[in-house]
Amino acid sequence: MIGTTHAAFALLCYYVTAYFVELPFDDPMILALLIAGSLLPDIDHPRGFLARQSYLFRRTSRGVSKFVTHRGIVHSLLAALIATAAVWVIAAFYDLGMLAVACFFLGFISHLAADSLNPTGIKWLQPFSKAKVRDGIRTGSAMEKFLFLIIIIAISTILYTAHLELFNIFFE
Ligand SMILES: [Zn+2]
Repeated sequence: MIGTTHAAFALLCYYVTAYFVELPFDDPMILALLIAGSLLPDIDHPRGFLARQSYLFRRTSRGVSKFVTHRGIVHSLLAALIATAAVWVIAAFYDLGMLAVACFFLGFISHLAADSLNPTGIKWLQPFSKAKVRDGIRTGSAMEKFLFLIIIIAISTILYTAHLELFNIFFE
């Protein structure tokens, strides 16, 4: 999946949770860590979405890709836990709050879930198991674009239901 699909899917996962558990919809730190978590796994792709954003990311992903393959160990539950533990330490240092840390984890997991819809698939339990979860939606295909559209409609529906005031501009 491409970066925008990952970010949108992470946002949908969070907004569904936020709707039912009554969490804030617009906390910048929560949204920033959520999106960061949803994009970080593709740091193992030297020509991926993240690598194309800045020189620093490009250098980092080139370095990472020398040691691991794309959708290898960086795309696993273990990597999600290790990355979240690192974010937890940083968050404790800067007093960011556990909800933002949990959202980073949610973003990371949502990335793995979305990539599991791809034919290459994801080995969630590597290095302990080679069992793969996969499906037929190719990266950048018309099917992914359709999925992206469905995600955007779902996000808009949740926002419309939970925060109607955001749509007031259309009714004035
Ligand atoms: Zn990925």
